[in-house]
Amino acid sequence: MFEDIIDFIQKTYKTKNLIPLHEPKFFGNEKKYLNECIDSTFVSSVGKYVDIFEKKIAEYTGAKYAVATSNGTSALHIALLLANVEDGDEVITQPLTFVATCNAIRYCGGRPIFIDVDKDTMGLSPTALRSFLANNTTIKNKRCINNSTGKVIKACMPMHTYGHPCKIDEIKEICIQYSLILIEDAAESIGSKFKQKHTGTFGQIGIMSFNGNKIITAGGGGCIITDNHTLAKKAKHLTTTAKVPHKWNFNHDMVGYNYRMPNLNAALVVAQLENIDKFISSKRQLSEDYKAFFSNIDCTFFEEPINSKSNYWLNTIVFKNKKQRDLFLKITNDNGIMTRPIWQLMNELEMFKSYECTSIDNAKYLEERSVNIPSSPTF
Ligand SMILES: *Cc1c(COP(=O)(O)O)cnc(C)c1O
Repeated sequence: MFEDIIDFIQKTYKTKNLIPLHEPKFFGNEKKYLNECIDSTFVSSVGKYVDIFEKKIAEYTGAKYAVATSNGTSALHIALLLANVEDGDEVITQPLTFVATCNAIRYCGGRPIFIDVDKDTMGLSPTALRSFLANNTTIKNKRCINNSTGKVIKACMPMHTYGHPCKIDEIKEICIQYSLILIEDAAESIGSKFKQKHTGTFGQIGIMSFNGNKIITAGGGGCIITDNHTLAKKAKHLTTTAKVPHKWNFNHDMVGYNYRMPNLNAALVVAQLENIDKFISSKRQLSEDYKAFFSNIDCTFFEEPINSKSNYWLNTIVFKNKKQRDLFLKITNDNGIMTRPIWQLMNELEMFKSYECTSIDNAKYLEERSVNIPSSPTF
């Protein structure tokens, strides 16, 4: 059965050479815009492409405001600062995510609480979330207090895993009920929609990543999206060293960060964004082809959850057990086909081990059995 899979993937990508998990493609105005930056000398933190990028991302996602950042991780850090996450505050997230989600919580001195995911979305489970909050917290003066630690739970940060939207409308309702600020880690889900609304626009704040392995790339880059004017202004201020605008004076009114996206990177991602529909339709076609192929194979192809349209960033197959998964990882990688297991669960990593973790059977199930298979667009 593994031979059939290898054969299918090699045929799909028309090569027997190394097949990466996800590689960037440049076929639009990338070189033109980059040359323009170089010719104009505006390669760094000033230039028109950052403004264009912010405008286009807001348009594309339907968010009122977008603020460009140096990467997705810095966007997460700023998002949590916007939510006033401070030393000792708690933030709910999922154990099944990329390490950046939890690192950003710790940058603010926050403490993650790990709540299980749903098997059909790989994202935070509203059922598990509701049950945790109902059984373990008390609302006092519109603050959600964790009974066991006495700390305030400030925010909830679900992630749309591999581009598949989680049940974000239910999560949003729960967050409102428990006075939690909802931050969506939409790093992987540009173009993915839940009930026809773009992921990242349900909560008060959403973030995206334009790293080289994501669907479209800035080389390195990210953004914060929000409908809240005050938060957008604060995000811009914090990411640009908190400098008070003035023609020549250096006045900074708080501890800020140099998290801005350089014009060069913005130029690259603006060109990529012009072709976003092509990227996503190619990826959705690939997922259709995989789905058809895997219907005859003894493992499950992970399909987009109900009510949602996924960008299928990384296609995922789920094996019956860990042994099969391990064997598949070895055989494919030995044959030049890049496949990857899901991330090690966050609650198992040394630096996050001591934080609160509820029962996470679904995350464990998926972690042991899931593999990402090559997912670059096929054009
Ligand atoms: C890629 C990614 C990030 C971080 O983005 P960078 O641009 O690499 O800093 C954060 N969260 C998730 C879930 C990601 O996949």
